[in-house]
Amino acid sequence: MRASSSDEILTRLKAHYHFTRRRKDPFKVLIATILSQRTRDENTARASEQLFGKFDTPEKLASARIEEIEKLIRPSGFYHVKAQRIQNAAQQILMEYGGEVPRDIMKLLKLEGVGRKTANCVLVYGFQVPAIPVDVHVHRISNRLGLVTTKTPEETESALMEVFEEREWIAVNELLVTFGKEVCRPRNPRCEECFLLDLCPTGVG
Ligand code: SF4
Repeated sequence: MRASSSDEILTRLKAHYHFTRRRKDPFKVLIATILSQRTRDENTARASEQLFGKFDTPEKLASARIEEIEKLIRPSGFYHVKAQRIQNAAQQILMEYGGEVPRDIMKLLKLEGVGRKTANCVLVYGFQVPAIPVDVHVHRISNRLGLVTTKTPEETESALMEVFEEREWIAVNELLVTFGKEVCRPRNPRCEECFLLDLCPTGVG
């Protein structure tokens, strides 16, 4: 894609959604992102709120009873698997990293249940380190907009890092995720109302 188009897309997204940088607790970002796998945002929010109400540090989560974790995160679905994953991740953080979530992608990827999207979310939202988390939604929108031509989220991540300057990476996930919920939805994208229609090669006006 021509640089001018990608710059214009980002400029309009920022103007529309008023992106602001906010740093969150890396441990909570990590655990909430694992809980968010294969479920809806509202389920993740409920499960996270219940879990962090009792276990909000690696120490507390690592030594909790697994049945209690399962009960608290039940709204997120797949709660047997997720309970084990988040407890194992908490134990790894305690034993291998002195209780601090690492701000290093290779170390993050070694944690239980952590793939590239989750690791990048921790970097961006927990540490404000430039990275581009790519889930199926960011992947879909980036291809629809012609920002990239890729087959997998992993390819999209690398391609987006070429498209946007590094100082912009930190905003890309949040802007595209919000845009994907409100406008460029998986089914029935709202092309007629889309503020990027004139820049989009696949939109139907
Ligand atoms: S014009 Fe349609 S397909 Fe293109 S970005 Fe907008 S909503 Fe998505």
